[in-house]
Amino acid sequence: MPPRITCYGGVGEIGGNKFILEDGGVKVILDFGRGFSDGSDYFDSSILPRGVNGAGDLFEFDLLPQIPGLYSEEALQNTTVEYSEPEFDAVVLSHYHSDHTGRIEYIDPKIPVFCGETTSLINDAYSASTGSPLRGHPIRKFRTGDKFTIGPMEFHPIHVDHSIPGAYGFVVHTSGGTMAYTGDFRFHGPAGSMTRDFVDAARRERPSLLLTEGTRVGPGGDGANMSETAVKNEALKMVGGTKALVFSTFRGNDIDRVNTFYDACQATGRRLVVSMKVALLLEKLMGDRGLRVPRVGRDVDVYLRRKKKGKFDDSDYYSWERPFIGKGVTAADIRKKQGKVFLHLEAWNFPELVDIKPGRGGTYIHSATEAFNEEGEKEETLIRNWVEHVGFRYAQLHASGHAPGGEVGKLVRDISAKKVVPIHTEHPELFGQFDRERRWDLEPPVRGRAVSIDT
Ligand SMILES: [Zn+2]
Ligand SMILES: [Zn+2]
Repeated sequence: MPPRITCYGGVGEIGGNKFILEDGGVKVILDFGRGFSDGSDYFDSSILPRGVNGAGDLFEFDLLPQIPGLYSEEALQNTTVEYSEPEFDAVVLSHYHSDHTGRIEYIDPKIPVFCGETTSLINDAYSASTGSPLRGHPIRKFRTGDKFTIGPMEFHPIHVDHSIPGAYGFVVHTSGGTMAYTGDFRFHGPAGSMTRDFVDAARRERPSLLLTEGTRVGPGGDGANMSETAVKNEALKMVGGTKALVFSTFRGNDIDRVNTFYDACQATGRRLVVSMKVALLLEKLMGDRGLRVPRVGRDVDVYLRRKKKGKFDDSDYYSWERPFIGKGVTAADIRKKQGKVFLHLEAWNFPELVDIKPGRGGTYIHSATEAFNEEGEKEETLIRNWVEHVGFRYAQLHASGHAPGGEVGKLVRDISAKKVVPIHTEHPELFGQFDRERRWDLEPPVRGRAVSIDT
């Protein structure tokens, strides 16, 4: 049997990537994420899959494939699927976003996880704070330029630019031919040249098969594409345009965005204040010499929210939070110097505004993708209500982690593989528009159906 790849997620959907790569009896899982709308017809924030049933409640709705030798004893213990020893040799991870990692928590921890060095640091931070889906797995680290083999397959990880540091694409030599997998990518971030490195490396290897994301490939055309530099320029105007408080919702693990707002603060005489969870992540990422990370305490402050008894006692906080207590700024501190602060505040943490009591006339920066489903729209309404309640201006400001459709098309043409499997997109069929001369075969993925890798 020729080597083959089977898609179990990321099929006609953005995120939820789950691929199985097989070559001569060796099986590798390539990402194992949670889809953004996985199970949203049956579950929401109040109706949750039961922990006690392990993977059982997810099997019920086909949210996880029932594959023998993949899941942990714990995930299967109360299900109708019987546990058996692992039949998989490794999980290879492209980057630490939940739509790529989220379902690894069900995988047998005897199976090692291969990930980038930066991803391993992010994993350390989350393991210490909110918990990590990689818990219990042996971690094997790589960086760009490394090669590692799993059975007959040789993996070449190559960095790409994305909205979290430590994102990778892969070129994989199998016994039947070479395949390339993009992971998630963009060209318009501060490290756009890294994605070009990936394209160049993949093209040189003349792959038989390309597995590419296409988040922004859609029927509506590309529209405007804001770069991270443009976000910084706009942020400077917004932050400089008010003497009142600025607060913003953004993903704390998007270190490019943290740097963007840190730079805007530097230029306007403000202090960036982040949550303890982000502070811990920044501290861990200080260990990565290749990254630019603001230093906690010196460059950014930590927000100290009241918990339990509300008296800032050590006993009110988790042990990982305690080292930040002495260095933290409270709601009262922020109230005294509102015009000198840029506060990172996730929506779930908006009740802190009740304590901060911001004066009117400040700016709220919504630095995230615009809502794309009902749940997102509901959250946006709540956010707008809070912003209106405190008398602030609502501003949207974001650069996507993904390349616009036209740039995805150019990547596909540049790499020029024989077969193209579009994943992480709602519109795999539209990839045909990138190949008017029919130089390659478009293989829209089908859940559970293998595609062979041959020359
Ligand atoms: Zn993704
Ligand atoms: Zn991603």
